[in-house]
Amino acid sequence: MLKRLEIVGFKSFAKKTVLDFLSATTAIVGPNGSGKSNVAEAFRFALGEQSMKSMRGRRTEDLIFNGSHSVPRANRAAVAIVFDNRSRGEHRPFRIDFDEVVIERAVLRDGTSEYSINGSKVRLRDIEELLAGANIGETGHHIISQGEADRILLASPRDRRAMLEDALGLKVYEFKKQEAQKKLVRTEDNIMQVNSLRRELAPHLRFLESQVKKLERADELRKELTSLAQTYFAIEDAYLSVEKGKAAEGKRDSAERLAVTSVELANIEEQATTDVEGAKHLEFVRKTEREIERINSERSTLARSIGRVEGALSVATDRSTRVAQESYVKVPREDLSGLVKEVEKQAAEATTPEAVLAAFTAIRQVIVAFVNRFVVSAEDTRFEEEHAIQTLQNERAELLANESVLSGELEQAKSELAQHREALTAHDETGRDLRRLILDLAQAKAHEEGMVARSEAREHELALLAEALEREKVEILVLVGVAAVSYEPLSPTDGAVNDRSAHEARKRTLERTKIRLEEAGGTGEDIRQEHKEVSTREAFLATELEDLARSAEGLRALIGDLDTELAKYFSEGLAKVNASFGEYFALMFDGGNARLVLEELEAPEEGALLESEEENNEKTKERSGIEISVSLPKKKVRSLMQLSGGERALTSIALIFAMSQVNPPPFLILDETDAALDEANSRRYGDMIENLAKQSQLIVITHNRETMSRANTLYGVTMGGDGVSRLLSVKFDEAIAVAK
Ligand code: ATP
Repeated sequence: MLKRLEIVGFKSFAKKTVLDFLSATTAIVGPNGSGKSNVAEAFRFALGEQSMKSMRGRRTEDLIFNGSHSVPRANRAAVAIVFDNRSRGEHRPFRIDFDEVVIERAVLRDGTSEYSINGSKVRLRDIEELLAGANIGETGHHIISQGEADRILLASPRDRRAMLEDALGLKVYEFKKQEAQKKLVRTEDNIMQVNSLRRELAPHLRFLESQVKKLERADELRKELTSLAQTYFAIEDAYLSVEKGKAAEGKRDSAERLAVTSVELANIEEQATTDVEGAKHLEFVRKTEREIERINSERSTLARSIGRVEGALSVATDRSTRVAQESYVKVPREDLSGLVKEVEKQAAEATTPEAVLAAFTAIRQVIVAFVNRFVVSAEDTRFEEEHAIQTLQNERAELLANESVLSGELEQAKSELAQHREALTAHDETGRDLRRLILDLAQAKAHEEGMVARSEAREHELALLAEALEREKVEILVLVGVAAVSYEPLSPTDGAVNDRSAHEARKRTLERTKIRLEEAGGTGEDIRQEHKEVSTREAFLATELEDLARSAEGLRALIGDLDTELAKYFSEGLAKVNASFGEYFALMFDGGNARLVLEELEAPEEGALLESEEENNEKTKERSGIEISVSLPKKKVRSLMQLSGGERALTSIALIFAMSQVNPPPFLILDETDAALDEANSRRYGDMIENLAKQSQLIVITHNRETMSRANTLYGVTMGGDGVSRLLSVKFDEAIAVAK
């Protein structure tokens, strides 16, 4: 599936050089220093190699043709690898929908690298993913550089494990795992953010909840008060109407009796008066009676005025005591928002430390002025109220004084009337009996007058009570709404109407409930609204958190699954590699044994934060490295280091071949891997190459005649005096010549 390599400006390949790989095994031959290894490095380079060292350079510039005395230096090095991507079996080798895949990398002298896939610019990461999917890993286990045959032997157990994972095609899982881990980190970040938002919200929500609970208690009180008020008002209404009826009836009866008595008395007095003297006395009696009538009517007008003033006074004192008892005073909303705006404006303008200081002073002044203004206006209001009370009190005192003057006048008039009657009856000669009758009637008349006055007083008292009741109704209506005054009227005969002591107790309960409700505060619509909003937000965050926790859980499970799969494929792969490794090793050494052994790594991976001992063990086991154990036939060798150069080369060739066998890479580049082999081993090496070429395309860079003989295609690389590598197709015999 490897089709072609195109090199321009890379290292010694100044001119565009194209290598076609048409057969299973291609050998590249040529004298020392002609540029053969540069071809292997061209592969590494195009596949995204980042280590300059593994391309024998220090800087990017070292990768670009540096020029010779006859050829100018290049400014750009570019290598393209062309793959055949037609599907074999079910899949295309690379997971993109093109029959041919060209992976290209170019560098400029300024160090910039450009990657492209089929001519479209891509990121290195895209190249890596595409290659990993086609089992061309980044650890370069499929490109064995010159002198690096035993690289895998020298590598650390951890790197060795990485190479094995790569060779087994497990990189794809690693990529998936990394992606899942990144997502997990992001998710955990989000979880932390949501949690901190919830923590910020919590105290405010708790406050709002307690407020709402208070409001709910107030709602309860409101209901309680409504029902109490309904009962109370119904009873009081019925009571007042019964009492008013009684008073009116009493007054009517007395007034009727009074009228009858007056007429009777007047008639008798008329009859009894026979001379001028008597008529004069009668005239006095009538006059005094009219006077008494006048005084009485003035008194009742006065009583109504007193009632009115007293009503107003009780409302005013009530309000003023309530205001005095309140522990807070009200601030008009617009004043307060004006203050807030002013403070915000000052604060917003303060950008430097000096400005902050100035703003601080200004804000303090604004606040002090506000509070002063506010305290003054509160005092003004109190003063006005006190003044109004005083005026009403004065008015009442004046009216009461009038009342007492009128009472005096009345007493006076009454005693005058008695005297005139006395004089009238004394003058009469009508006799004792008539005199007695007149005096009795006069007494009865005075009695009925008293009765009418009492009924009127009662009516007046009831009117005051009714007024007070109306005020109470308004007050409670304001407090709990119209329901408190919407109730079925009670029948006047209901037992509750006349049980005044039970009613008094009811009134006390009503008052207490009213006070409790007033203390509990208003309806708090804004608090309820805010509580609703904040708890909705909280609920939203909680759901969000659940979602996040679920997706974190899912990611952890995915990572766990990937780990399990990785571990499974890894241990399966390891067993297969070991079987193959043992076979190749025995073949190379005519016996003996070699195997890869999983071994726990001493220290946890760098930067890995392990929370618990258990997890620590888990991770270590999971990330354990790979040791190589060898036993040569007829020799006691304990460590790899004790092997000879040739033995080491053989061991690593056996391992590389074993790895390639288990999961064949699309191609394998072997740069003088056979350099240390003697004739017999060269033959075995050749046999293995032929075997391996059945699954992977091979590119062997070699000086070894035996190896050349196994290749289907031979390229010779030469370098002339101009320092530029040149490529030529050669036959086997020519190759032998070229290689020297
Ligand atoms: P051997 O058989 O000894 O391993 P080889 O054929 O593998 O040799 P290389 O190591 O591939 O040879 O090539 C090395 C040659 O490439 C040297 O002559 C070196 O000067 C040349 N070379 C390396 N980098 C550049 C460069 N940037 N510009 C020009 N020539 C370069």
